[in-house]
Amino acid sequence: ELPAIDGDFYNISHTLNPEERVLQLKVRAFMETEIKPIVNDYWRRGEFPHHIIPKVAELDICGIAYEGYSNPVRSYLMEGVLAMEMARVDVSFATFFGVQSGLVMGSIFLLGSEEQKQEWLPELKNLRKIGAFGLTEPEVGSGVAGGLTMKAKRIGNSWTLNGQKKWIGNATFADVIIIWAEDEEDHQVKGFLVRKDTPGLAVEKMEDKMALRIVQNGIITLTDCLVEEVDRLQKANSFKDTANVLRMTRAGVAWLAVGCARGAYESALKYTRERKQFGKPIASFQLIQNHLVEMLTNLTAMQTMVARLSELQDQNELTDEHASLAKVFCSLRTRDIVSKAREVMGGNGILLEYDVARFVADAEAIYSYEGTKEINTLIVGRAITGYSAFV
Ligand code: FAD
Repeated sequence: ELPAIDGDFYNISHTLNPEERVLQLKVRAFMETEIKPIVNDYWRRGEFPHHIIPKVAELDICGIAYEGYSNPVRSYLMEGVLAMEMARVDVSFATFFGVQSGLVMGSIFLLGSEEQKQEWLPELKNLRKIGAFGLTEPEVGSGVAGGLTMKAKRIGNSWTLNGQKKWIGNATFADVIIIWAEDEEDHQVKGFLVRKDTPGLAVEKMEDKMALRIVQNGIITLTDCLVEEVDRLQKANSFKDTANVLRMTRAGVAWLAVGCARGAYESALKYTRERKQFGKPIASFQLIQNHLVEMLTNLTAMQTMVARLSELQDQNELTDEHASLAKVFCSLRTRDIVSKAREVMGGNGILLEYDVARFVADAEAIYSYEGTKEINTLIVGRAITGYSAFV
């Protein structure tokens, strides 16, 4: 009998406790049975499978690392493993989930008032409400730390917001969008919970993306959009606070990269054992084995790295540079792994039905979002040298 195909070569999942392992396998089964059969069709059409949301809610895994607000206390390691399991089947789905559970719930968990947490976290956790996170702008991407063009002006007990956001995942159907804007008075970045249907809020779907086609990214325009002071994130007083959210979610993106790489590796390994040329499985050729082992080596290094990253997070010792280093390394290596996976599959590697082509495309989005390779490299560079090369 052939050995089992599993990209967890060093058994990282053995570091989970039995209850956590059960949850990992439950999410894996969900991804295999509910998402895998429909994913290529939705990806091709660039649509989101809305009917899946109640089933995701049943898994009860949103915001799994945040204590309280009807959440049992679990770990960042568990959260990371689940992100990997999702991305192993589909990076779009994992990204939809990451926006909801990480960027949106995380912002409210870290920076919201008690009332804001009570109002939003249970609803977001149960996916009765969907969230989006609006930081990037048409003209401000990597440079968000250096100033935003979205402006917030306080008038009495309300704020008016004016400006645009670009690339905002889940924005087309979100019930609440966290908008990051620069206060015209003190020039600090503040966060606002902008509710769906607020007058002055317009969202346009971005079309023709070549990656993450299931994720509904929007361009948001706010025109004299009125938001009450109670809907301003009460503990978000400067970009440093926003960066605390990004530190946490970047660690999640590193796990997502691992999932993408693992999905491609496992598909390629299976394919090479089944595909025959010259009368033999192509997996029996030395040059193919060299590719496969190189992929597995990188994948194993990535998994070991993110497992330690989550331990740091669980011990409350995670720094910006820890998260950035892992994001850079994993997204870079993922690009390598998916392209090797495509290579060993020959022509079929570029057909959507063989899955790997989707991983190749989606790896490009992972590479650029939540801080590009350059920006995360400069965050590490600043930490090790003491000199900031970018702000
Ligand atoms: P730019 O900032 O214009 O960068 C272009 C190039 O210049 C990059 O290679 C960059 O590394 C390089 N560069 C820039 N500055 C420097 C420097 N100082 N030194 C060296 N090189 C530099 N944003 C959100 O707010 N919410 C979302 O939900 C969201 N989802 C996304 C989903 C997808 C699929 C994608 C692709 C993006 C998403 N983003 C989202 C935006 C994402 O975070 C930005 O694309 C990213 O921060 C890079 O910004 P940019 O695309 O404007 O590139």
